[in-house]
Amino acid sequence: MGGVTKMDEQESETCGWLAGARQIESPNFDARPEGASVSLIVIHAISLPPDEFGGSGVFELFTNRLDSAAHPYYAEIHHLRVSSHFFIRRDGELIQFVPTGCRAWHAGASAWRGRECCNDFSIGIELEGCDTLPFDERQYVALDALLRRLRLLYPGCDIAGHSDIAPGRKTDPGPFFDWARLSFPKNEG
Ligand SMILES: [Zn+2]
Repeated sequence: MGGVTKMDEQESETCGWLAGARQIESPNFDARPEGASVSLIVIHAISLPPDEFGGSGVFELFTNRLDSAAHPYYAEIHHLRVSSHFFIRRDGELIQFVPTGCRAWHAGASAWRGRECCNDFSIGIELEGCDTLPFDERQYVALDALLRRLRLLYPGCDIAGHSDIAPGRKTDPGPFFDWARLSFPKNEG
């Protein structure tokens, strides 16, 4: 039905769905608190089953369809109601689950620069990965491009890892994530 015009793209991004991202809507989100603007981008890593790539487990978790019988770990987590705004697969594919203007449920108990409940004021990006293997080159390329777009939409955003906002509780994006590969430096809390 014709190409996507620049105007379509701008309007779509105003609504918080980024053009070019594959859209899979998650029910796990709500409104940001009144007056809360986006000031932080949180980098995560996830793989389901743990340390396995390429399956549909993350999609199922974020859409409340994870089969508790499919894997022992799924029995522990299938009840969770979680999401992130974005997910970047090993091949660099970008998937969006929640509009950026809404509050996704990715950070849990967390704090950044003395402010708690980071979901209120952050965007969550999950990389398909784990603590024991390097990330794929294509993921760094896709993440860097996404960060450029988000920093245009939300100027001055800080960038941090989940382990920075929930130290002692979370390790992701993990020791193999190379912050120096990004055009934007990681911020210190
Ligand atoms: Zn995380």
